[in-house]
Amino acid sequence: SETGPVDLHVVINDVLSLLEHQFRSASVQVRKDLQAEGPMVRAVEHKLQQVFLNLFLNARDAMPKGGWVTVASRREGDHFVVLVSDTGAGIPSEHLARIYDPFFSTKPIGQGTGLGLSITYGIVQEHDGTIVCDSQVGQGTQFTVSFPALAPSR
Ligand code: ADP
Ligand code: MG
Repeated sequence: SETGPVDLHVVINDVLSLLEHQFRSASVQVRKDLQAEGPMVRAVEHKLQQVFLNLFLNARDAMPKGGWVTVASRREGDHFVVLVSDTGAGIPSEHLARIYDPFFSTKPIGQGTGLGLSITYGIVQEHDGTIVCDSQVGQGTQFTVSFPALAPSR
């Protein structure tokens, strides 16, 4: 697979349409606030799809009774920032340091491999990005993912 210019909004919209049915059957509603203009990054497209797929699936799993997933984007200097937040169970502070560890999972056996965020973290690193998690138990979780903006070609 090839590295090239990838539009973050195309990636996010593709993954959201893939999940549309799953979200509906889980009573998960999606709010989009994609404000970044021309959010092009240098990436392997399917790897970025994997990043957002993992974040959205974790959000769904955190809301067994349904809720909201919000995905927002904006430009911050020479980076594009994407926030993925949910109104789910939240992550206890004693787990926060372990969520990126391979095989760390709080899900029943067979429902979680614990590899999603480990893979996500690796992909973000490979793309010179950053990922940060903020969470409040009982309120929800927010992941902030940032990638360097691709300089416009001349
Ligand atoms: P898996 O989904 O297979 O358990 P992940 O690596 O994707 O593995 O996530 C690791 C753990 O981090 C999850 O089992 C869960 O405890 C926690 N987690 C990740 N995302 C969320 C979220 N949005 N809300 C609550 N907990 C989360
Ligand atoms: Mg997961």
